[in-house]
Amino acid sequence: MPDHQPLCRHCQHPVKGRADKKFCNDYCRNAHHNLLNSATTNAVRNINHCLQKNRRILENLLPPSRQLIRTSAEFLQYRGFNFHYHTHILTSSRGNQFFCCYDYGYRWMDAVTVMVMKQESASVNQSGQKHFFPRSVNTLH
Ligand SMILES: [Zn+2]
Repeated sequence: MPDHQPLCRHCQHPVKGRADKKFCNDYCRNAHHNLLNSATTNAVRNINHCLQKNRRILENLLPPSRQLIRTSAEFLQYRGFNFHYHTHILTSSRGNQFFCCYDYGYRWMDAVTVMVMKQESASVNQSGQKHFFPRSVNTLH
């Protein structure tokens, strides 16, 4: 057996055959890729779940007639809001940064208070400029 006989990336057994072979056989190759794909799918699913939950929490706070409402970060957290995840950041014409989860967002008023807003999709044009935020819109992700 050569010193550097490669090991199968899936089952870690020595691979026989060509030096650049990475898997014992098709079974190991498929099993390895299925594992990778399911890990990726789970990571994406978990974060999507957080983002959608965040959006729902913000949506439930805002009555249909209002575009802005003030609340406490503690209250959001109590409802299960996850401050680690947002889809993008909007900067208002006054330079305030709104952390958005899809079409809803919030900004910090002080260390404990947040302002929740709904982005009016009807006023979003193709360049991403908002009627609500006429001057600058920054997308960080
Ligand atoms: Zn194998």
